[in-house]
Amino acid sequence: MGSSGIVFYNTRRKKKEPFRPIEPRRVRLYSCGPTVYGPVHIGNLRSWLFSDLLKRFLISEGFSVTQVINITDVGHLVSDGDEGEDKMELAARRSGESAEEIAARYTELWRQDRAALGCLEPEHNPRASEHIAEQIELGQKLEAGGYLYRIEDGIYFDVSLFPRYTELAGLDLEGQRDVQRIDAVKGKRHPADFAIWKFAEPGVKRLQEWDSPWGRGFPGWHLECSAMAVKYLGEKIDIHTGGIDLASVHHTNEVAQSECGFGVHPWVRHWMHNEFLDFGGEKMSKSKGNVRTLSDLTGRGYDPMAFRYFFLQAHYRQQQNFNAEAMDAADTGYRRLVAVAAELRGVEGPGSEAVQAPFKQRFRAALADDLNAPRAMAVVWDVARSDTLSPADRRDLLLAFDEVLGLDLAHAKPPAQEYESDPRIDGLVAERQAARAGKDFATADRIRDELDAEGIGIVDTPEGPRWRRK
Ligand code: AMP
Ligand code: ZN
Repeated sequence: MGSSGIVFYNTRRKKKEPFRPIEPRRVRLYSCGPTVYGPVHIGNLRSWLFSDLLKRFLISEGFSVTQVINITDVGHLVSDGDEGEDKMELAARRSGESAEEIAARYTELWRQDRAALGCLEPEHNPRASEHIAEQIELGQKLEAGGYLYRIEDGIYFDVSLFPRYTELAGLDLEGQRDVQRIDAVKGKRHPADFAIWKFAEPGVKRLQEWDSPWGRGFPGWHLECSAMAVKYLGEKIDIHTGGIDLASVHHTNEVAQSECGFGVHPWVRHWMHNEFLDFGGEKMSKSKGNVRTLSDLTGRGYDPMAFRYFFLQAHYRQQQNFNAEAMDAADTGYRRLVAVAAELRGVEGPGSEAVQAPFKQRFRAALADDLNAPRAMAVVWDVARSDTLSPADRRDLLLAFDEVLGLDLAHAKPPAQEYESDPRIDGLVAERQAARAGKDFATADRIRDELDAEGIGIVDTPEGPRWRRK
């Protein structure tokens, strides 16, 4: 089929490409999910806000989107090099709970975070531990194809047998051989070879282990995504997302397993990776302390949606710095936008499709150009601030944009009116109040006009007159 007029940057090709799904009106989308051994941080959340924006945009373009987000509850080792303890086992040993209890708790917390951020539910949200048979089946296909070898600690994929192994991330395998210790796992032929199945250590009882044709043990981390993608989306998918850190190992290994196992190429048409949220010095501020999770933010009085607004201010392929100032600015921006949207809720009567069309086109064009959210937000503000558009058109446009932005502009409670304070202006306001009380209306009006000229409006409240900048 022809191009949809949408271009996305494809990590595999290192350039923007027209988006062409396998089927004309359908999108098969796979997004790597959380490892549920602890709470996710707001950097992780950036990856799901990104795939949610992508999904919402594709829906607004008329595509029917099937999204899979996996839950990693087994096999993700502390190190990327197939060594070290399983993150789930480690967390369970530390807390004294079962792996299932820990997985259930953090899966629930992750779902709550996503819901608070307005993320749409994925169509499938499969757990790795419930797809062991599917993973073994894929392992057997790879074994039949001659891609695997057995060593003391497990069954490994031989990357030298897959010539496109370096393609996705532009890896230098020979260079890796020089710098990485091949003996990190005894018997590995190349440092990049990765585990399909790891054997349970003799004499060590793991919380999670299963029988397999190769012996008792557990699947390598990468296998789950290939096995669950094929189960829910079929042998080829349109878009695969994840954070940029996953490209060089996890996603590279997913490609190797899937292309060799299913005999397809390319397994994924568009690889889309979000850049990192950078915590900088980690501290948000001395008084505010460390912020890592969404509940750290809400505990400090921020609306979760202010974080979604923060996310929308950077392009997904730009590193975004997280700090108190930037978060406060996003919080203010979000409140202002909600205040405008709330004011427009009372507006009655129809808008004009013809007047709205150019704004919708600009908004759409920004997102069709590799999901340029900051550019789309500029259109949002042009509409929110416009004194030429009618209130009905502004209302309609903001609600239409919000289908894609997900900021809950249709329902979010407007912030309480905020008034300002400044000794000079407070003094003038008090002076005016005293003049009025003394029936000196000329002075009262003069002060009001002076303040008005400075762009300051006086508002009568039950607590007496207050002021704010217009
Ligand atoms: P993990 O649970 O570690 O696999 O991470 C879940 C998702 O978050 C993956 O797509 C990671 O690439 C992504 N991710 C991890 N750290 C960050 C960060 N600081 N900023 C943005 N994305 C991240
Ligand atoms: Zn994955």
